[in-house]
Amino acid sequence: MILIKMLKQTLIMMLICTGILSAQGRFDNVEIKTTHVRGNIYMLEGKGGNIGVCAGEDGILIIDDQFAELADKIKAALKEINPGELKFLLNTHVHGDHIGGNSIFGKVATIIAHDNIRNRMIDKFKEDSTAQGKNGWPVITFDKSLTVHFNNETIEVMHFPKGHTDGDAVIYFKDANIVHMGDHMFSGLFPYIDINSGGSVDGYIKNVDAVLAQVNDSTMIIPGHGPLSTKKELTVFSHMLHKTTKLIRDMKSSGMTSDEIAAEGLGDEWKSFDWGFIPTERWIETIYSSTK
Ligand SMILES: [Zn+2]
Repeated sequence: MILIKMLKQTLIMMLICTGILSAQGRFDNVEIKTTHVRGNIYMLEGKGGNIGVCAGEDGILIIDDQFAELADKIKAALKEINPGELKFLLNTHVHGDHIGGNSIFGKVATIIAHDNIRNRMIDKFKEDSTAQGKNGWPVITFDKSLTVHFNNETIEVMHFPKGHTDGDAVIYFKDANIVHMGDHMFSGLFPYIDINSGGSVDGYIKNVDAVLAQVNDSTMIIPGHGPLSTKKELTVFSHMLHKTTKLIRDMKSSGMTSDEIAAEGLGDEWKSFDWGFIPTERWIETIYSSTK
């Protein structure tokens, strides 16, 4: 009996250990890929939201920081670009795959973000003491917009309300003509719209179109997710949002349920936008549930 008990305990311990190992292993194989966009601006891809980098004689500014587990790899990638100090961290919005490394980078960099990001982070910490603490909270916050003058760039940080969440910023490098859209662009993918964090389908589309109206043919666009893009991909993204929203709303008003629309599908044109996190059914459900 004792032997069986011991074996049982060993088995439980083994399961716990492998569980822990696989949780850590989630990021083991992630490599940070650096792409030079133009001038002082770079894009880093790893796991989670794409990172924007402005590196030059004044040091380094980054936009978003993916996950805490990737902080060392991100630091190494930044060092390859420029040995200067990290001075500023801008957050596009509150999701964990964009601000997961805040507490680490916030020890050296000044974090800048919309008011609602700071408020949501503080609220979360009050509920859960293991959430990111003070080091990870934005130090400078803004309501509508803010400008950072760094590395000879005029960097405009603009709030776009009620879109992906209620605290999204789109960041425009005016001199380089580069836009970091945060999660207001999932290039070639159905987007996630976080209704529970103050996002809305109609607001999201309105915001995407507002950015589209401001860019030109030589603008480079860093999307929150997906590859480095241009006005061409943003136009396709906007087109997809309008077309699929209308299609789903028309089917709903004809009396179809969400399941029936999912069974019918959205046609071949948008099949490639289906991906692991937002498959077609989830995109249909997002629009369906937000339509009266
Ligand atoms: Zn997001």
